[in-house]
Parts: sequence; structure tokens; C-alpha cells
Amino acid sequence: MKKLLTPFVLLTLVGLMQSCSKVPLTGRRQVKLLPETELVQMSLAAYNDFLQENQVVEKGSDAEMVDRVGRKLAQSVTEILRQEGMEERLATLKWEFNLVEDKLANAWAMPGGKVVIYTGILPITKTETGLAVVMGHELAHAIAQHGNERMSQGLLAEAGMVAVDIGTYNKSEEMRQSLFLALGLGSQLGVILPFSRKHESEADEMGLIFMAHAGYDPSEAVQFWTRMNAGAGGSSVPEFLSTHPSHETRIEDIRTKYLPVAMTYYQSVKSKQK
Ligand SMILES: [Zn+2]
Repeated sequence: MKKLLTPFVLLTLVGLMQSCSKVPLTGRRQVKLLPETELVQMSLAAYNDFLQENQVVEKGSDAEMVDRVGRKLAQSVTEILRQEGMEERLATLKWEFNLVEDKLANAWAMPGGKVVIYTGILPITKTETGLAVVMGHELAHAIAQHGNERMSQGLLAEAGMVAVDIGTYNKSEEMRQSLFLALGLGSQLGVILPFSRKHESEADEMGLIFMAHAGYDPSEAVQFWTRMNAGAGGSSVPEFLSTHPSHETRIEDIRTKYLPVAMTYYQSVKSKQK
């Protein structure tokens, strides 16, 4: 048994060393075992299927707003990652922002930067700044490559005592299923698995900075999450359902930890505009 384990343990360690990188802005170390390019390719297939099966809002002021906010945030992400010397995270990104007709108050982003906003969340975001709270959070999931990290965690857990051939795993149906779950799109499969509390908090933290740098007042996040609590109380919202972080903790963290930092970005942008 020991002999069998040793090569796998070695392989894992090599893999960990190769793939251990830092998340932009938060500096948290993360383990990603899958090539991001592979994940992006898989995601693209899932994304195209989703757009086929759902009604995309092509025209009108709401669709324009989603596109406008998305572009401003993407610009902000590019500038910040360059400042941080982390441009390599931009390599796999090709942003797309779509508004989809669905009464669910939801939104998500796939690896590679495909962002979908459901019309059902617009009554809660209310304003362009409110939408920037949601989209900043979603772009952050993509930049932080949370999907990859989550799949890697799943792989490591599954591996347990048996070596997993990552090369084969990449192309299997199993991978496709895990991908959907890892991306928080489990609702498509009738299973809901929200991002972890750590990932949610990190997306909040980074999202506020992205929106602030794009010129949107990040303090709106407190109002948005308060409305989200009130509005989504009884319904199920896959990405934002998040039993973790609890809504109270989330708002408290935003107010006391993340907002003070984001406000410095906001004030810096505002002083340049004068
Ligand atoms: Zn999230």
C-alpha cells in the first residue's frame, strides 16, 4: 500500500508546488491542479449551451446597462492586475456580459470571463451602482479562478487513496458534472452547491475594489446586500443563497473590513476626475 501511495504523493506535491499561486489583491495562496485553459474550454461549451437554452435580452436599456457596467469593470480589472503585476491572469479572459430573462435573482461568471445576469436580480440591484456590486463580485470569482480551485479541491478529495489520471479526467463526463458543480451552476443539474464562504468573502472583497476603481461608489454594497436579504428571504438563489457567509456577517465584513480599503480606490479615482 505504501509503495502505491508514494508516487501519487510525490506527484501531488509536485503538482501543488507547480500550481500554488496567489490570488490578486488578497494575496491568499491557492492550489489549482487543472490548466485554466482546459477549464475555460469546458466552460465555453457549458456557456454556449446555456445561452441556447435561455432567452438572452439583446436590446433595451437594461441590456445596455449590463454591457456598460461589465466593460467598465473589465477595464478596471485590467488596470488593477497590471498595477499588481498579475497580468498573467488576463490571458485566459475573454469577457462577455449577457442579460438573461429569468425571474430568479441570480448571476454568475464562468472561468474565462463569461458573465450572466438574470433579469430577476435587477429589481434588487435597482441602480447601475447596485448592478456594479453584483458584477464586481462575479468578475472577482473569475479573476480569482475560484472554479479551478474548487475543482482541484474536489480532485484531491476524490483522489484520496487512489491516483487520478488528470489527463483522462479532463475529458470525461465526470469532469463535466464536477465542472457544473464547481462553478456553482449546480442548479442546472438540480443540485445547489454554493461557493464556499472563503470564496464568497474573497469575491466581495475584490469586487468592491473593482467597482470602486471603475468609479462606482462601493458603499452601495451595504444597501444592496440589505435589499438582497429582504428580497431573497424565501426564494432560492443558487449563487447568492449562500448560507455562508450569513447575510449579517457578510454585511458586517463589507462595512468594517472591505469598504475602508475600497473607499481609498474610490477616492483616488474621484480626485483624478476633478
Ligand atoms: Zn459569489
